[in-house]
Amino acid sequence: MIFFDSVSKQYPGGHEALRSLSFQVDRGEMVFLTGHSGAGKSTLLKLIPVLERPSRGQIVINGINLNRLSSRRIPYLRRRVGMIFQDHRLLHDRTVYHNVALPLVIAGVPHRDIGRRVRAALDKVSLLHRETAYPVTLSGGEQQRVGIARAVVTRPPILLADEPTGNLDPELSEEIMGLFEAFNRVGVTVLIASHDLDLIRRLGHRYLSLGDGQLTADSGRAGRGG
Ligand code: ADP
Ligand code: ADP
Repeated sequence: MIFFDSVSKQYPGGHEALRSLSFQVDRGEMVFLTGHSGAGKSTLLKLIPVLERPSRGQIVINGINLNRLSSRRIPYLRRRVGMIFQDHRLLHDRTVYHNVALPLVIAGVPHRDIGRRVRAALDKVSLLHRETAYPVTLSGGEQQRVGIARAVVTRPPILLADEPTGNLDPELSEEIMGLFEAFNRVGVTVLIASHDLDLIRRLGHRYLSLGDGQLTADSGRAGRGG
């Protein structure tokens, strides 16, 4: 499902953010990615929906070798990979409903299907009652739940999250992680970058540790299959 083989990433300017990184995440796994700031977590996540390209190595996502993926096919790949950010990146001049609808509008989903699918996504994060609200009127945890609804509205088989609880207190963090676990239980493959080691240990899923762009630990397949 997610396969990295000797992947390196060098940014223009010279810094090598990832160094010959190899790992595999199977379909249906939930995996944390941990490591200090600057270790390469965001870079690793960005390579999966091709927000960045590797300098060397092979990446295969859902059977698609990204080195052989033409630019024309990237939008198709991105619809299959939901992405959640620490700062959620909601559009502040649009309602909750329109934020969540956006990936469907961009994908050209027929108008008559959009309402049903937006409401299904909002229902999964318990925010149906907020669809006409603007993001600034929501709490931090609610804003992150809108970000999650937007990421899942295209029903992607893979969810990626970059420090999704970085701005939230421990109780809200657990709640957000509970949502990821619920998507994982219905078969979604989940990869979450987080530096919250206490939370990761409590949840007991597999984790990969990055240090200076290299894999320093892989806890193994603990937690697979519930
Ligand atoms: P993390 O998410 O673990 O904090 P990042 O992937 O953001 O790590 O960063 C890894 C390294 O790559 C850092 O040294 C960072 O400064 C560098 N880096 C990240 N993005 C860029 C970029 N766009 N241009 C140049 N260097 C970058
Ligand atoms: P920015 O330019 O704000 O730093 P990025 O380069 O990280 O943003 O991403 C470019 C755009 O692609 C963003 O608007 C982001 O919302 C969108 N995007 C990122 N990942 C995905 C994804 N998996 N599916 C669809 N859109 C995505």
